Amino acid sequence: MPKPVVAIVGRPNVGKSTLFNRIVGSRVAIVEDEPGVTRDRLYLDAEWAGRSFTLVDTGGLDFQENGEINRGVRRQIELAIQEANVILFVVDARAGLNPDDEEAATLIRRSEKQAILVANKIENFNSQTQLYEFYRLGLGEPVPVSAAEGLNTGDLLDRLVELLPPEGEDEYPADTIKIAVIGRPNVGKSSLVNTILGEERVIVSKISGTTRDAIDTPFERDGRLYVIIDTAGMRRKNKVGGLAEKYSAIRALRAVDRSDVVLIVLDAVEGVTDQDKRIAGYAHEAGKALVIVVNKWDLIKKDDRTMNRFTKKIRDELSFMQYAPVVFTSALTGQRVPRVLEQVDFVAGQHSMRLSTPNINSLIKEAVMQNPPPGDKTRRLKIMYATQGGVKPPKFILFVNDPELMHFSYRRYLENQFRNAYGFEGTPIWFGLRRRS
Ligand code: GDP
Ligand code: GDP
Repeated sequence: MPKPVVAIVGRPNVGKSTLFNRIVGSRVAIVEDEPGVTRDRLYLDAEWAGRSFTLVDTGGLDFQENGEINRGVRRQIELAIQEANVILFVVDARAGLNPDDEEAATLIRRSEKQAILVANKIENFNSQTQLYEFYRLGLGEPVPVSAAEGLNTGDLLDRLVELLPPEGEDEYPADTIKIAVIGRPNVGKSSLVNTILGEERVIVSKISGTTRDAIDTPFERDGRLYVIIDTAGMRRKNKVGGLAEKYSAIRALRAVDRSDVVLIVLDAVEGVTDQDKRIAGYAHEAGKALVIVVNKWDLIKKDDRTMNRFTKKIRDELSFMQYAPVVFTSALTGQRVPRVLEQVDFVAGQHSMRLSTPNINSLIKEAVMQNPPPGDKTRRLKIMYATQGGVKPPKFILFVNDPELMHFSYRRYLENQFRNAYGFEGTPIWFGLRRRS
């Protein structure tokens, strides 16, 4: 179930960014960046009353094409209508009703999108006379708030969660392998998907999600069920740049969230870009199984070392995911495309691998013997006992004397020991520490 997307729209200076910060302010769990992975925060996940959603800040990104604010706001709203589940339309109650507000409201009304009219900058709730003129926008009762002071934003959020689409169960059978196909425009995602699907039995053609954020294609192969979650086809109607790119990035992240296995598709000619790094970093942090696909391999002049050189370069650039297998394909000629699904099967198996508790504990014992944990004169990390806490990705719980004594480097050492012994190819491994004295 993808998280619903909520967009804050409105003229410049009505307080969109202030509202954004206010909403996400205290209730967002921001995941620490992995070393080396940069992440922008143009949108954030927020939670209210047990419902989570992705909030898009369009403030600070006001388009002023040819100095015309008008057109910028229009574009912002058109995108929100296309991409968001709920629109928070912010007006400035101090400034009063503005012709741009009326135009924007008309667009929103016609779209029949769920929307809330937010009248901002109301610090004095005793005199709400400023509110009345906004009824004319035809978007129902304006919700008065002061984003700056944090007044009434709780009520606003209550109204918001009521408008979110109902939470649904994942619609696929439990053993379905869900594959997200991620990559920049034009790397060949659609071509690759078509080539893969060309050879398999497609069960139902093209189901588009309710949020229109991806096209799901379920298929069957050797009795196994798969779904390809493809965000590629949704892109073309938008110009690249600014807000449109932001929404397409959100779609990609949502596809990753829903998947078991992420195919990161790169263009052999262009190599790894910053955007590739960001999305790969996200998939890694989300604990997804991963396969790196270097497509358009037909365009590369090769000798017997090209593939190794290429792999090394990818390993350098995506250093946090050494574990991901790399496949070199040409969607155009079909070269090695069948390898992609083989790798998907393989990493999906690794992703859900479960080790027995005795095996885990003897591995830890051996590892500790070979390379004792860090410590100082007085205290040293002691691992008493370990067990597997879950799969997808494999999660190991270590019961230790003091979690503070664990170092990043020792954690990595342990991870490598697990990988050397059992593979875990194509999947991150998580460790959880519990104090036990
Ligand atoms: P945006 O351009 O729509 O993102 O607007 P900003 O969030 O940048 O806010 C524009 C200006 O309005 C800033 O100077 C804010 O401090 C101010 N502002 C935002 N919310 C409030 C509010 O609730 N009351 C008052 N008085 N000012 C506000
Ligand atoms: P998407 O935007 O990532 O879905 O990329 P498309 O599948 O639409 O492909 C973009 C362009 O690259 C199209 O013109 C494809 O024909 C071309 N293309 C895709 N895969 C390959 C490939 O393996 N080799 C070559 N030479 N061209 C490819």
